[in-house]
Amino acid sequence: MSNLPSVEELPEAIIARFGTQKAKTGNWRTNEIEIDQDKCDFCMRCVVFCPDGAIKVSEGKLKMDLDYCKGCCICIEECPKNAIKEERKVELP
Ligand code: SF4
Ligand code: SF4
Repeated sequence: MSNLPSVEELPEAIIARFGTQKAKTGNWRTNEIEIDQDKCDFCMRCVVFCPDGAIKVSEGKLKMDLDYCKGCCICIEECPKNAIKEERKVELP
């Protein structure tokens, strides 16, 4: 029998069993993500691929939700228009 904790005993942030919308991941971010609205053709790939639902559509534009963007850069990899950039904000040791 394992001594590991059960799923119910693990913190939500680790197992994300309710999705990350219940565990704000924005404070993990060491970089800033910015969308160039002029380059964007609204294909929605970044919205679909963001694991944290951090890219929202508001008034016909994409908007970052910094409470949830953890700076993983998946959106940058997926954007076919090279419209998303990142800038390091925290120096790592
Ligand atoms: S970097 Fe991009 S894909 Fe990653 S959490 Fe932020 S918006 Fe989502
Ligand atoms: S993936 Fe790039 S082009 Fe597509 S909606 Fe996102 S920012 Fe715009």
